[in-house]
Amino acid sequence: MGKKWGHYKAGGRSQPVPCIYCGRLTPRIKAIVVHKGFRIDPKIPGIDRRRVFTSGIKGYACISCAKHRGLI
Ligand SMILES: [Zn+2]
Repeated sequence: MGKKWGHYKAGGRSQPVPCIYCGRLTPRIKAIVVHKGFRIDPKIPGIDRRRVFTSGIKGYACISCAKHRGLI
């Protein structure tokens, strides 16, 4: 006993990624890729601006945020 704990499928095709706009975790397959050059609204709560700017090469946006911002 002790070998099998936690039974999750190894595969990781749909790893959740945080939305850069609302911070919500979204399955990667559903997330919209946002490249550097996008605008972050600093007024949105829960967003660490420094983190966004320093890692601003590529990010993900959830479906609703992407739609709301006309990304898709
Ligand atoms: Zn979002």
